Amino acid sequence: MMGSVSYENVGPVAVVAVDNAPVNALSQAIRRGLSEAFARFKSDDTADIVVIVGAGRMFIGGADISEFGKPPQSPSLPDVISQIEACDKPVVAAIHGMALGGGLEVALGAHYRIALPGTRLGLPEVKIGLIPGAGGTQRLPRIVGIDAALRMITSGTPITEGDALETGLIDHIGDGFDIREAALAYAQLLLEHRAPPRPISGMPRATDEEGALQNWRTKLEHSLRGEVAPLVAVEAVEAAVGKSFAEGLKEERRLFQHLMDTPQRSGLVHAFFAERAVSKLREIADVAPRDIAGVGIIGGGTMGAGIATSAVLNGLAVTLVERDTEAAEKARATIARNLDAAVRRGKIGRDRRDEILADSLKTVTDYGALSDVGLVIEAVFESMDVKKSVFATLDEILPRGAILATNTSYLDVNEIAASTSRPEDVIGLHFFSPAHVMKLLEVVVADRTAPDVVATAFALAKRLGKTAVRAGVCDGFIGNRILSHYRTAADHMVLDGASPYQIDKTLTDFGFAMGPYQVSDLAGLDIGYATRQRKAADAHPRDRYPVFADALYHKGWLGQKTGHGYYIYEEGTRAGRPDPQVDQIIAQARKEAGTSPRTFTDDEIVRRYMAAMVNEGARVVEEGIAQRPLDVDVVFLYGYGFPRWRGGPMKYADMRGLDSILSDIRTFAETDDHFWSPAPLLERLVAEGRNFDSLNQR
Ligand code: NAD
Repeated sequence: MMGSVSYENVGPVAVVAVDNAPVNALSQAIRRGLSEAFARFKSDDTADIVVIVGAGRMFIGGADISEFGKPPQSPSLPDVISQIEACDKPVVAAIHGMALGGGLEVALGAHYRIALPGTRLGLPEVKIGLIPGAGGTQRLPRIVGIDAALRMITSGTPITEGDALETGLIDHIGDGFDIREAALAYAQLLLEHRAPPRPISGMPRATDEEGALQNWRTKLEHSLRGEVAPLVAVEAVEAAVGKSFAEGLKEERRLFQHLMDTPQRSGLVHAFFAERAVSKLREIADVAPRDIAGVGIIGGGTMGAGIATSAVLNGLAVTLVERDTEAAEKARATIARNLDAAVRRGKIGRDRRDEILADSLKTVTDYGALSDVGLVIEAVFESMDVKKSVFATLDEILPRGAILATNTSYLDVNEIAASTSRPEDVIGLHFFSPAHVMKLLEVVVADRTAPDVVATAFALAKRLGKTAVRAGVCDGFIGNRILSHYRTAADHMVLDGASPYQIDKTLTDFGFAMGPYQVSDLAGLDIGYATRQRKAADAHPRDRYPVFADALYHKGWLGQKTGHGYYIYEEGTRAGRPDPQVDQIIAQARKEAGTSPRTFTDDEIVRRYMAAMVNEGARVVEEGIAQRPLDVDVVFLYGYGFPRWRGGPMKYADMRGLDSILSDIRTFAETDDHFWSPAPLLERLVAEGRNFDSLNQR
């Protein structure tokens, strides 16, 4: 698949069409084809104007990702774009579908730009740790201004054709759905007006009267958590203000090359490919999903209401069953509030919100209302007895072939399945809170789950705009199982002398969205307490118990919801401040345990936390709970606030070197060989000189 570029004369208009399905990526063949087409246009006396269009469903989707990491082949994209821009007859980019990355840079090399309704235009390079490298950072600010350019380049988020027209990125929105027709009509218009060539490189430098560069720097320094590419983008755009076009291009090239060599780029590229790989499962490659007309949800609490919101927002009809009318009404009110927020954010219109509440959402107390749904998701209390009784009822009521899913966080899905007469139709669908916001869905496949039930779960995730990862059955599946292990490592550090505040600060500096004690406060300390109670029966005499966490729980300090947990939350704030009383409670706990506190460097905190995460990650892979290390990575990127630019915990381990992680674990084991024992898979990989990535290909 290399693609081709065609050249055609339509009266005085030359039509250059890029054809490289599926996204018209700028492969070497396309770059060469464009270069040849523009050489031909230059000497084509019958053509007075040229339009560039994309064949199929879009203009140009960007670089060819299959060329990533290979030596560059000429002609280079910057050269092709310069050649296009240098034409002495007008050039029009006629955009439909999408113009992304290098695709938008090609359009910026044209002299005029039009787009059809429904088009998206963006420069997503920062998402893989880069900046636009074919003139985008120099041309875009010259036509849309610094602020609008930085918004696009630092976020990587595409904009609509309406916004593009408003900022001046495009000149016109074409009529209808046929890009070729719209392009020809616009070219005729330009000819009638004797429109001249209008290269952006010849326009005046961008100006920064509003101080946008500094505003963006300040804003990004607060939000980036260590990611570098967006700040480098600001530097590149600064060159469009301070330097000539030619010098600015050189600066862009220098910064681009610098980013090409950073480990962040490697982390982000891994994340990019990993999130595409998670849904490619051999077990469902040729399996058709079942048809599910609508979704049933049992329980309308935190999770049930969030899942229902996600489903109705994505066009699925929902029947939600609660215990009594009051609870059903409460669930409906929560969902309505979520929809109101979606209206405020411009995700849906007010009409659509009203329509959903009137037609797509039933909140009831009678299980009988479920008799015609194809999939039911149970989200009742986390208790095996309650869940089994719900599944017994569902088993009785639902037609054969309907799928019975549980949103349990920890419980044994095999046991739930075995309590029904149709274990092959039972699966775990572990959503994350808030379920209408969080992208991750763990699809928990039990021993007897049928392949088409797994396929249906992945199809549902796609419908809901979520990233699904396959997990096997164990306590906590992939994410919560690993979480509970590194959380224990953090508790040990607290018992030995580190403060929870130092730990949180160190880990947010590392790039995590939150540290473990901030997470506790958000989730509620009652959740952790319940987990410890549940696991008490399996406790080992050498386990070290976080008595301080129980002490906080017994004081009723349950976290954000009570305004007090590890942190104190002033009315209406979500950023807590440290509490000296918590330090005292911890000091008391250390005393009772007979430990004399020592100091921890930030480096040791990171090493212990990450070693625990990676070691348990290796066990999860070895046991087949996660199919590949990349599945663990995606779970942490999407569900646990792991810094994307580090690629995930397993990628982090590869980049640091598995021998370094293993040697840390062995060192920690010298003083605690009960908690710290190297995962056999980690030892084996180190012995064989391999990394986790070598297991990602299977
Ligand atoms: P919740 O207490 O907020 O909601 C549970 C709801 O279920 C309540 O509204 C209750 O009235 C209802 N309910 C109980 N028994 C019922 C029955 N027999 N029929 C109908 N409705 C019934 O709990 P939650 O936080 O939403 O958790 C629900 C499930 O999701 C649990 O298994 C939990 O482990 C799991 N989960 C929770 C989170 C989280 O962060 N809260 C994340 C992932 C998974």
